[in-house]
Amino acid sequence: MRWDDRGLVPAIVQDAISKEVLMMAYMNKDALDKTNETGEAWFWSRSRGELWHKGATSGHVQRVKSLHYDCDADTLLLKVIPQGPACHTGKYTCFHNEVEIKENASSGQADDSSKPAGVSDGDRFAILGKLETIVAERDAERPEGAYTTYLFEKGVDKILKKVGEETAEVIIAAKNRDNEELRYETSDLIFHLLVLLRDRKLPLDEVLSELNRRHIQKPAGEFK
Ligand code: AMP
Ligand code: ZN
Ligand code: ZN
Ligand code: ZN
Repeated sequence: MRWDDRGLVPAIVQDAISKEVLMMAYMNKDALDKTNETGEAWFWSRSRGELWHKGATSGHVQRVKSLHYDCDADTLLLKVIPQGPACHTGKYTCFHNEVEIKENASSGQADDSSKPAGVSDGDRFAILGKLETIVAERDAERPEGAYTTYLFEKGVDKILKKVGEETAEVIIAAKNRDNEELRYETSDLIFHLLVLLRDRKLPLDEVLSELNRRHIQKPAGEFK
């Protein structure tokens, strides 16, 4: 690593499942060694002037899934499984302060008035990623009274029960030829599947990759 003149490098922490950027902190050689030894994130606290085991007091440690350094070896990237909020404010990510961008030239959404609300061709499925992030946020923050919190606290058996129920409801809706009900129950099912993926620590990305792989491997019209 190319440590700066204080012996530090910035370390970016990313949720290995949702891919959300959680926080940025500094590491020195000791912090990096500790992280390697323990498999949990350690940093150098510049304000306290000491080695800092993330989560030592809050319990919100970060299990490190992988560690990367950038092209010129002056920045680290940690992909982690967070055991709670990354931010000391209790928020899932430290980057919860959004600055409004006035002229969003890059979004290319000049005229989407013909499209359903929030849906344009390029980002038709963006809501899945957003939902994955919200589910991860609920998992980390566990806000009281939230239904997703309830599911995570009840555990995987409850989540599986819901997946089963929603699947049955999708079948009933389809049998009833009721598309409004089918739309509703399919949404319920997808949401509960996302909760299940989070609970099982399987990134949605891996499911999407699997779908892509199948699409590439199987020529049209070929049955399995
Ligand atoms: P923790 O490491 O989560 O037990 O938090 C211990 C202390 O570290 C907190 O009281 C904060 O002062 C600081 N801290 C925790 N998380 C962050 C963060 N994401 N960025 C900066 N400081 C933090
Ligand atoms: Zn760099
Ligand atoms: Zn923070
Ligand atoms: Zn339902």
